[in-house]
Amino acid sequence: MPFSKLGLSDPIVKAVTELGYKTPTPIQEKAIPVIMTGKDLLAAAQTGTGKTASFVLPIIQMLSEEQRQVRRKRIRALILVPTRELAVQVEENIAQYSKHLSLSSLAMYGGVDSKQQKQQLIEGVDILVATPGRLLDMYSQRAVHFDELDVLVLDEADRMLDMGFIDDINKIVERLPLERQNLLFSATLSKQVRILAKTAINNPVEISV
Ligand code: AMP
Repeated sequence: MPFSKLGLSDPIVKAVTELGYKTPTPIQEKAIPVIMTGKDLLAAAQTGTGKTASFVLPIIQMLSEEQRQVRRKRIRALILVPTRELAVQVEENIAQYSKHLSLSSLAMYGGVDSKQQKQQLIEGVDILVATPGRLLDMYSQRAVHFDELDVLVLDEADRMLDMGFIDDINKIVERLPLERQNLLFSATLSKQVRILAKTAINNPVEISV
């Protein structure tokens, strides 16, 4: 099946084609249509399966459609990840996939000065990729606002739980608008992951690859 059959717009199909992707991977075939309907998703997928594109492509599609009506300076998609490395990598993917769109993204993580991250937030960030601790820190400094948030992604949820981020994740989720789409990706759907899923996401479609 070609990417265009998944309902992705020409600028996105062009970007993935330029990266040499020929067909969607199984997780992409399953997840992209579900995400585009606006439903919540619980997905079991390992790294290396193409899981990042499976949530990034439909998110940039949805945000770019909405962008035609209004241009807002608030975060519209939040992707929580366990590590700085993953934050950087996911943000790089977003930049590649949205090359022919006008969306802005930022990787936010601890261990570095927050000045530049704050400046970028002021200039406007559509998609924020963040580690939980730094995000809460920036939230308490009123540098981030969640009032226009449409989509939450919990990426590598099992790793975030293993690293002890459960309380931080719960605190973040409590501060998000109630009406939002939630996507959870995890290598395994352990009992702990399912407990997190219960509090963070609503009636999800479940898929695994
Ligand atoms: P991930 O599972 O998101 O870490 O992705 C693993 C690798 O697969 C990344 O280097 C992607 O650039 C690549 N990738 C993602 N989707 C595709 C695709 N449909 N065709 C070829 N490579 C892909």
